[in-house]
Amino acid sequence: MTGTLTLVATPIGNLGDVPPRAAAALAGAAIVCCEDTRRTGRLLEHLGVPKATYLVVNEHTEHGAAAEVVEALQRGEDVALVTDAGTPGISDPGGRIVRAALDAGCAVTMVPGPSAAVMAIVLSGLDAARFVFEGFLPRSGEARDERIADVAREPRTTVVYEAPHRLERTLADLAAACGPERRVAVARELTKLHEEVRRSTLAEAAAHARAVEPRGEYVLVVEGAPAAAPAGDDELRAALRSVLGAGASVRDAAADVAVRFGVPRNRAYDLALDVAAGR
Ligand code: SAM
Repeated sequence: MTGTLTLVATPIGNLGDVPPRAAAALAGAAIVCCEDTRRTGRLLEHLGVPKATYLVVNEHTEHGAAAEVVEALQRGEDVALVTDAGTPGISDPGGRIVRAALDAGCAVTMVPGPSAAVMAIVLSGLDAARFVFEGFLPRSGEARDERIADVAREPRTTVVYEAPHRLERTLADLAAACGPERRVAVARELTKLHEEVRRSTLAEAAAHARAVEPRGEYVLVVEGAPAAAPAGDDELRAALRSVLGAGASVRDAAADVAVRFGVPRNRAYDLALDVAAGR
């Protein structure tokens, strides 16, 4: 019998938010994977869990730790994994160890609990029916430009994590790419004493971040891109004229334009007949 890997979510600021099953999962584990033994030690003490055997898991050690975790699971030992705050694997270590355990055929489960992304989207007041999690944006270069352009084009609400000293620049870059009027919710210090969610346009949020020195932890929730206005007959005729002018048949021109503009084929076909007949 192999052991079970249990991911355990921990508070994102308020110690009252420890999931009720966390203590049992941590107490029953032969190994507790964590980013910082002192921080996790304080949590275990708070929960009354006796001293654990720790394995440090961070971006540098996760690869090697995954092999150790799999060996322990294969010996039949249970392993728990926590991060400094929130849900493991969400802009935090955990993903590689989950994959290694699954590849080895071991059981993986979770004690679910807080995550800043979920709390921020729910409090944002923006559309939470479908959303995209971006995590931290690249800090510079082409990779950053591309990801910001992705956010600008994305029709679903997007969640971004950001450090306080980069908040102003990120809001300004988002305002430039998405347009100053796009809505954003800037969620700060969630579950903590100074919890705050400011809902405004991107331009207003960038101006506020310039005016006050941002402090604490932040999540940005950016409204999705507005749906493009449906194509009108004039736009479709112009596109058809260009495709027909390049030598396409009425049928092919209609099919091409119908796909590109997302309009029914019969509408594109009727317009293509008109254009071809010079009407
Ligand atoms: N795994 C965590 C989770 O589930 O939310 C995220 C860890 S990531 C290393 C840390 C980032 O999460 C912070 O820089 C901030 O963007 C966001 N964050 C974490 N706690 C937060 C809080 N209490 N309020 C606002 N944002 C928070």
